[in-house]
Amino acid sequence: MACPICSKPAQRPYAPFCSRRCADVDLSRWLKGSYAIPGGGAGEDEEDSSIPPNAVENNDF
Ligand SMILES: [Zn+2]
Repeated sequence: MACPICSKPAQRPYAPFCSRRCADVDLSRWLKGSYAIPGGGAGEDEEDSSIPPNAVENNDF
C-alpha cells in the first residue's frame, strides 16, 4: 500500500500513510474540507441555493 500523500510505502503505525507527517497532512485536509463547505455560510441551512454556472455566464453575447 502506498501513502496517499507522497506515494511512499506506508508504514505500520501510520498506515495507510508513510509517516505521521503525511497522516497529519491528510487529517488537516479532511478537517478543512468538512469545515469549509462550498456555498455555505453560517448556520445550518440544508437548503441548497447554489446557482448553476451556466445561469451566470449568459451575459457574454
Ligand atoms: Zn507519505
